[in-house]
Amino acid sequence: MEQKRIKKAVREIIEALGENPEREGLKKTPDRVAKMYADIFKGIKKKPEKAIRIYHAKNYDEIIIIRNIPFYSFCEHHLLPFFGKVHIAYIPKNDRITGYANLIEVVELYSERLTIQERMATEIADTIMKTLKPMGAFVIIEARQLCLEMQGLKKQGEITVTSAIRGAFERERTRLEALSLMER
Ligand SMILES: [Zn+2]
Repeated sequence: MEQKRIKKAVREIIEALGENPEREGLKKTPDRVAKMYADIFKGIKKKPEKAIRIYHAKNYDEIIIIRNIPFYSFCEHHLLPFFGKVHIAYIPKNDRITGYANLIEVVELYSERLTIQERMATEIADTIMKTLKPMGAFVIIEARQLCLEMQGLKKQGEITVTSAIRGAFERERTRLEALSLMER
């Protein structure tokens, strides 16, 4: 990431807004934003599939669920935050499972970049399918989108929900079972 360019660009935005970049409160803002971006966009150019480690658990073929993984991301259409929780379900195949920490890292790497909620769900589900090769994967994301809340109708606290369904979860019974566990 080119922090110097970000600094310059932020100063440019401040000026273009008609503000004075030299006034007390704004003086250090370009620097602060550049440093913050280095942190909150850590996921750019990282390969989330590398976060998945595979372990073997004998004869385990039940649904595995991890709920309420918190995330913060940045909407690529408006450069404003969207944030919330990710719920992941998968059904292992051939005894292959992964660690909760690994799944949390996948969520982090896909959220610490410019993206949209729909793609995040798809990417997380596809990464699980590709690396772990389970019977199925099911990802639900519940989020608040500041670009929706701050513009226009200003519906504060509105939650948008997106999901990605792969493999065995395409069967309604399996999906409903996972949903009932995820919503608990
Ligand atoms: Zn947006």
